[in-house]
Amino acid sequence: MNFIPYGKQSITKADISAVENILRSDYLTQGPILPKFENEIAKKVNCKNVVAVNSATSALHIACLALGLRKNEWLWTSANTYVASANAGLYCNAKVDFVDIDKKTYNLSIDDLSQKLKKAKSDNLLPKIVMPVHFAGQSCDMQSIKELSEKYNFKIIEDASHAIGGKYLNQYIGSCQFSDISVFSFHPVKIITTGEGGAATTNDDKLYEKMRSLRSHGVTRDKERFEENPDDEIWNYQQLSLGFNYRMTEIQAGLGLSQLSSIDNFITKRKCIAKRYNEAFKNSKIIIPWQTKDSCSSYHLYPVRINGKNTSKSQKEIFIQMRKNNIGVNIHYIPVYRHPYYSKLGFKKGYCIEAERFFKEVLTIPIYPGLSNSEQEIVINCLLDLTKK
Ligand SMILES: *Cc1c(COP(=O)(O)O)cnc(C)c1O
Repeated sequence: MNFIPYGKQSITKADISAVENILRSDYLTQGPILPKFENEIAKKVNCKNVVAVNSATSALHIACLALGLRKNEWLWTSANTYVASANAGLYCNAKVDFVDIDKKTYNLSIDDLSQKLKKAKSDNLLPKIVMPVHFAGQSCDMQSIKELSEKYNFKIIEDASHAIGGKYLNQYIGSCQFSDISVFSFHPVKIITTGEGGAATTNDDKLYEKMRSLRSHGVTRDKERFEENPDDEIWNYQQLSLGFNYRMTEIQAGLGLSQLSSIDNFITKRKCIAKRYNEAFKNSKIIIPWQTKDSCSSYHLYPVRINGKNTSKSQKEIFIQMRKNNIGVNIHYIPVYRHPYYSKLGFKKGYCIEAERFFKEVLTIPIYPGLSNSEQEIVINCLLDLTKK
């Protein structure tokens, strides 16, 4: 039996010829396709500006820098995320703290956030940036986070790595209706892929210009922005800040542009699989992912919970057995602060109780557009069998 991973790219014939066309063209990087890809993302999610880069991690980093995150300032994010969300803050020499998750959505808890903010205000340690993460593709309660940001004066970066194509209050995630910047990932397990890649979206022109410049060494070719010798022909570019090489290649942008034309199809297929899983598990011991009415998930992940008290086998035993059966279940996520690097920064086990409870119960089971009906059946039967009392 073939191995069934938890996530996988779907590459069409059109994707392959799009990449081939780039390889035959004059530009492998910094050509005409990148701005086209950025424009199409902007149109799709209804946001004014898009900066595509070589990963979501890079996008999170330059988003933090553009918002002015500095040494010893605070960035807060969800405990239930990939390490990249928190690392972006550390790259800026800022301090990072974690908000516990909501019991139902597994997204950052508004109650915990409110309480932490109240305390931080009295201690004079308010965060500069709060980074909600749309876990599995379901939007956070952005309206509440926006209200809190006005009260406590912090900036908002949405880590929407899971969530391109998803919606919140009938707007596409990435429209930045309730945030300063949103970030997508185009890693192969995500909704659309460029191999490696990511993008930041913003309606703010100044943030856009900063991120564009940081993507490419802090250099500009725009004479209007030159700080010295604006009329000297020899000066055709100037470095104005310390940026990076975070550029996306034309090969990646070509793949991304082609993938973007399949996005609705991809999301529909993911929704169908989620619906089938919901039906299959509804009268079992398996806890299926709850959905808020405000959100329309992209279903990057399908996280189920196994409460070992109700099943004959523990989460860990089921994890091992499913892997033995060639089903690539995963754990999303180990709470970030439980990683050795973060422990050394002083975080202790038990810091975010709900995130740890979730970590001990969650299994993410395969979901991706190419997952066939018979493969879905294999996953369903195996999980039902292992969770029978
Ligand atoms: C995948 C992911 C990232 C990092 O994305 P890259 O494109 O691999 O850098 C960041 N945050 C979350 C929540 C992710 O799932």
